[in-house]
Amino acid sequence: MGDVYLDINGSTPVHPEALEAYVSSIRATCGNASASHPAGLEAQAQIAAARAHVARGLGCEADEIWFTSGGTESNNWALKGLFGGGRSGHIVTTAIEHKSVLRTAEALARSGIGLTVVPVGASGRVEVEAVERALQRDTRVVSLMVANNETGVLQPVREVARLCRERGVLLHCDAVAAVGKLSLDVREIGCDMLSISGHKLYAPKGCGALFVRRGVELAPLIDGCGQQCGMRSGTENTPAVAALGVAFELLVRGAFDAVRSPELRDRLWEGVHALEPRAQRNGEGPWLANTLSVTFPGSLGAELQRELGALGVHCAAGAAATGGSPSHVLMAMGKGEMHARSTLRFSLGRSTTRAEIERTLDALRAVLSSTSLAPLQEAHA
Ligand code: PMP
Repeated sequence: MGDVYLDINGSTPVHPEALEAYVSSIRATCGNASASHPAGLEAQAQIAAARAHVARGLGCEADEIWFTSGGTESNNWALKGLFGGGRSGHIVTTAIEHKSVLRTAEALARSGIGLTVVPVGASGRVEVEAVERALQRDTRVVSLMVANNETGVLQPVREVARLCRERGVLLHCDAVAAVGKLSLDVREIGCDMLSISGHKLYAPKGCGALFVRRGVELAPLIDGCGQQCGMRSGTENTPAVAALGVAFELLVRGAFDAVRSPELRDRLWEGVHALEPRAQRNGEGPWLANTLSVTFPGSLGAELQRELGALGVHCAAGAAATGGSPSHVLMAMGKGEMHARSTLRFSLGRSTTRAEIERTLDALRAVLSSTSLAPLQEAHA
């Protein structure tokens, strides 16, 4: 019996067709995509094909897609690129954004750019009115994620896009957690920039993209030999880009549609609640259909995670890269440190089965009834 992997929001396995594209790209050419010999031209062709697939998947033109090293770079670039050349202005973002947005905005604030971080309530959903109140005369950009990676709560990106358009403000959306899990069309959303990451969409790690609407003036983040029309220097990671293109081709074909249906996630929550009636689900819907963030009062999330792991069930205690600190997302929702530390995130994938959910519940039953948790319950009551 294999392990049950329920940390899809942390990282996905590589889809067999994306893996095949990765390996065949390496086999087909070692060419540098900037070279004009046949090997280089082959690499260029692979990148052009991938760019077309990503553009099709996001509903934009190929020349609006730029490949990056992943979500962190895309988010850094979207914000820092707007303030190149000593430009001044103001950024609005929210307290539940990924650290790659929040830390970037804070770095810009240290260099003199204005910053307003919009708070959220217990629902985990940003209020459009709160974003509106945060806008200033010199606001250049709002950065709001499409869906939160920890709670799965969907954010009002379309309403905020409308607001931004009326005010002549740009909207950047971090869609890293959302891609593949709901329909994402940049024109329909009305955003100006959107970040995605390959390893959240069954493609390899270390490769992502930034959609930049034609007409948005974005300075490069990385200077060098001028690859990708000078927008993003650095030799393209051709095999990973080819795999990302295939992942988007699969997305358009509906290969990930299973994660759009909430039945298994709902069964998991129903089972968790039956096992531990004090368990609390974080945030209010609508949610991504694959995500369940649950707090087990009196238990340490990290302990539960370790014990579940020993039984072959992989889930997250907070986001994957929080370095042991309590979730800033849950804290922003007013949950308190103990609550944040008592939380597990289960995120389901395209091939999660009913049997795996039942196995997870069996493992959780065993872990919750294990005596080793009793002292913690007293300590954190
Ligand atoms: N944004 C969100 C919402 C994420 O979940 C992540 C990954 N945890 C990132 C950005 C960063 O993406 P990457 O791991 O590709 O740098």
